[in-house]
Amino acid sequence: MNASRPPARAPLMSLADAMTDLLGRVEALDAIETVATFDADRRVLAQDLVSALQVPPNDNSSMDGYAVRVADVTEPGKVLRVSQRIAAGHAGSPLEPGTCARIFTGAPMPAGADAVVMQEDTIEVGGDIHAVHIQAVPEAGQWVRRAGEDVTRGAVVLAQGERLSPASLGLAASLGLAHLPVRARPRVALFSTGDELVMPGEVPPEAMKPGAIYNSNRFFLRTLLQRMGCEVSDLGIVPDRREATLAALKSAAEHHDLILTSGGVSVGEEDHIKPSVQQLGSLDLWQIGMKPGKPFAYGTVRRESGKGAACHFIGLPGNPVSSFVTFLLLVRPFLLKLQGVSAAGLLALPPATLLPAHFTVARADKRREFLRVRRNAMGGLDLFPNQSSGVLTSAVWGDGLVDNPAGTTIAHGDPVSYISFADLLA
Ligand code: AMP
Ligand code: MG
Repeated sequence: MNASRPPARAPLMSLADAMTDLLGRVEALDAIETVATFDADRRVLAQDLVSALQVPPNDNSSMDGYAVRVADVTEPGKVLRVSQRIAAGHAGSPLEPGTCARIFTGAPMPAGADAVVMQEDTIEVGGDIHAVHIQAVPEAGQWVRRAGEDVTRGAVVLAQGERLSPASLGLAASLGLAHLPVRARPRVALFSTGDELVMPGEVPPEAMKPGAIYNSNRFFLRTLLQRMGCEVSDLGIVPDRREATLAALKSAAEHHDLILTSGGVSVGEEDHIKPSVQQLGSLDLWQIGMKPGKPFAYGTVRRESGKGAACHFIGLPGNPVSSFVTFLLLVRPFLLKLQGVSAAGLLALPPATLLPAHFTVARADKRREFLRVRRNAMGGLDLFPNQSSGVLTSAVWGDGLVDNPAGTTIAHGDPVSYISFADLLA
């Protein structure tokens, strides 16, 4: 054996394998709560919603116009007397044969009427008797919205495991539901690690000590967690010391479902997160073959009280772009599964679009790379010039990521896989 040659390093786990592994370790939280429908956006439904009624409840007009019996209008130009007026929210009476009813959008159809003629296709007849010329021969069912055409009675309108959207809240409300059963919010403890970190507002820029930087990760991580429906305990900055790290992890594990940290999870002596998690629980996943984002870690921290399962732990890299990208690609689906989301599509990377690269990547990287890019007016993608994992400007300038496979160069015009931040933040 050649002693001077360093030992061959095992290849890093692929992102796809890491995602499968990570999602295999998380189950939906049991707790369910009832929230006002108004407050349920992005929450995950805990039970199927079965409709107790049909929507709409009656046949009604989809136009402002005149409700008629088709049999009374056999040719264009028929004149019908207007025998009643029905506005939305009011029930009419059965339609007298040979007459029509003035009707407005959303008003229930009177019994006997089987079509609506829109007012643009009529001419009012002057004189004492209120009557209209019907200019076009209507078809049966024309401009009529059928009872139950949106929702039938007994239908599962929204299934458990669905993440509620503004439209689904409206649909739930159309069934008369003012409250909805949803999964509890994940309780997440957030820590930033690093002795160099200073909170904005605490020290003005001109008074920053050499080597100090402002804590930026804390701001986007807290916001991302909140957007994902988490109840966040932001526990501030943990100094780069073993005892402090152990104490922070131990106490956070008691009352949270997930501990999320940034920084301190690399291989340096000041990186205390990994050995601390190993000491307090287990470290099950560490380092992924992706760029940025290699120093990603997953593990669990035991609860001293012994209550319930161990607390999930995710350690994100300290570099801001690495932290941001690994949150979007890994933590987001993890949190969705923790909240009981069932759609497989949401538990994977959003679908990519193939778009032409208006840039080049001359040197292939060993890792699968996520480049910060922006769509341009020509339908192509521009690359942010500095792809360093410390340059957060790239994530603000960019509107998405190019998912570039390991070992792949990109020539100008090559089709590349683009994933928008909008999809990753949805
Ligand atoms: P680490 O993973 O702790 O070695 O950190 C990697 C790099 O990210 C270092 O340059 C840190 O200063 C920086 N970093 C770590 N945490 C943060 C944070 N919360 N905000 C901004 N930069 C950070
Ligand atoms: Mg650090």
